[in-house]
Amino acid sequence: MNNKKTYTFLNLATVNEPFNAPIKEALCRVADSGRFIGGPENEEFEQRMAALTGASCAIGVSNGLDALRLILRGYIELGRLHPGDEVIVPANTYIASVLAVSDCGLVPVPVEPRRDTMNIDTRRIEAAITTRTRAIMPVHLYGRIATDDRLLELAARHRLLVIEDAAQAIGARDEHGRAAGAIGHAAGFSFYPTKNIGALGDAGAITTSDPELAQVVSALRNYGCDYTYHNIYRGLNCRLDPMQAAVINVKLPHTAQVNAYRRRLAAIYNSEINNPLIEKPLFEPDDYCVWHQYVVKTTRRDHFRDYLAENGVETLVHYPVPPHLQPCYPGLAGLSLPLAEQLGRQVLSLPITACTSEQDAYEISAIINRYTND
Ligand SMILES: *Cc1c(COP(=O)(O)O)cnc(C)c1O
Repeated sequence: MNNKKTYTFLNLATVNEPFNAPIKEALCRVADSGRFIGGPENEEFEQRMAALTGASCAIGVSNGLDALRLILRGYIELGRLHPGDEVIVPANTYIASVLAVSDCGLVPVPVEPRRDTMNIDTRRIEAAITTRTRAIMPVHLYGRIATDDRLLELAARHRLLVIEDAAQAIGARDEHGRAAGAIGHAAGFSFYPTKNIGALGDAGAITTSDPELAQVVSALRNYGCDYTYHNIYRGLNCRLDPMQAAVINVKLPHTAQVNAYRRRLAAIYNSEINNPLIEKPLFEPDDYCVWHQYVVKTTRRDHFRDYLAENGVETLVHYPVPPHLQPCYPGLAGLSLPLAEQLGRQVLSLPITACTSEQDAYEISAIINRYTND
């Protein structure tokens, strides 16, 4: 009983261990180079991101939230968005997506999720479109593409911008084989240390195939300069740190492998978990979900979570309180979004990183199958 094994949810030192030697080499290279802002690591990073996503332009930035803010600010500078415009966002998301919208003076309009994908329910988007709607920000939550044909068709018909929040979805593909970052008009990525590809600190990227937007956001991230000491925009300092670019350049070539391993663990959970009290996430053999999280649902979530903890299985909740119920959005508190709120009460994320062996996934599944509701 006391010698029980622990199934670690996530230990970043373990995840980064296979990359440690080349990461240290890359960091020393930057330290020795004397180039601490911009430079060749950033350029290499931007080329790698464009190649990985298939978008024609990639812009390194400070983090994922800034990537989304810069995209929206960029469209405001281009006159394609105006403060007060409505942006449709998923009700079930990490709050950063919504923060980006409100920070730019735009109005977030949350739309309920589907229970199976937990992504925005694209059947419910049309009813949320008003004369002030100008954009949709789908979030590829937990690594699953949120932009289906219905969403893209609707956006085209209503001339809405589609801004992907791809923070959790590097390397994910839709059913047509298009990669996250090259589906909408622009996309924001995060390399926060816990993401599938994580830096050793904050980092992010924007991808787009719109050269005009690319030009504006690359100026905006750097004080709004188009050339030195000439500021065409009231910009920000949201540059990507070359130390982080160097780290990500080591890891990006391994994106497919990292994601394939998560996919393998998800496949084990999907085939092994067989407990009527536990609702598994949708698992489709041919979609390329990158399983940033493997999220199960159960009505007595905290009871289940305690049971797993007693059996050594660490878990997390992504996310307990949806953005519209956060104290910073009193104006959204009155919305009726029961499906998002129910997910907040029912979701639980299982271990699905390099810290979990395939054997662990079988053992965790067996522990889950022994769970009872008393
Ligand atoms: C992590 C995350 C962000 C924010 O990225 P940061 O790099 O932490 O700023 C935005 N949206 C989603 C869905 C995320 O998971």
